Amino acid sequence: MHSSQRDFHRVVAIDGPAASGKSSVARELARRLGFVYANSGAIYRAITWHLLEKGITAEDFDGVVQALESASITSCLLGGESRILIDNVDPAEHLRDSRVNESVARVSRLPAVREIVAKKLHDNARSDDLVVEGRDIGSVVFPNTPYKFYVDASPGVRLQRRAAQGERDEIALRDHADSSRPVSPLVIAKDAHVIDTSHLTVEKVVCEILARLKETGLWI
Ligand code: C5P
Repeated sequence: MHSSQRDFHRVVAIDGPAASGKSSVARELARRLGFVYANSGAIYRAITWHLLEKGITAEDFDGVVQALESASITSCLLGGESRILIDNVDPAEHLRDSRVNESVARVSRLPAVREIVAKKLHDNARSDDLVVEGRDIGSVVFPNTPYKFYVDASPGVRLQRRAAQGERDEIALRDHADSSRPVSPLVIAKDAHVIDTSHLTVEKVVCEILARLKETGLWI
């Protein structure tokens, strides 16, 4: 079923590669706008964690489809954020485990998985105004929203940011996998406003986005 933006509340799309600063910016922006914050990467991570717990690899296509058909995937609102529950478990504390970092790009390239995540985000947008971060939010999930941003930073800065978070995460490998997959690759939507965050604070990036949103009338 195809949905049009008219079916949805207002959606601000924040796309970009790993460790580009999307999460901090999107979360703060949502707080300022009074919108719900939705992290699509967290949904891909939650599904990846669930499959890993069940011992199912991304290469076992039938196993993935079966596991997802039999799982109950729901979302709930917690402190202004949309959180995902799988079989009533909130996997939040496991989402940044190294095994999830290693597997998530292989799981997220599967069309069956992408459909589930897009449907969850569409459901969220039917009930709330959203700031959604991800890789294909402006290009595929909400192509008709007029509020699209693409945040990036130099590879060196992104590596430093990840290291400062104390995580083992091969971001160059993930970026390559995310940008080269056939379905919904990471691209800059043609009508997105691009911001290089390499030398900007979160506050500066949020202000730049709010200034653009003011021009469109979304922010007063
Ligand atoms: O944003 P984050 O780095 O947490 O995303 C984890 C992974 O989820 C990405 O590397 C990518 O494989 C996948 N993802 C995606 N599409 C999105 C968001 C995330 O494929 N919209």
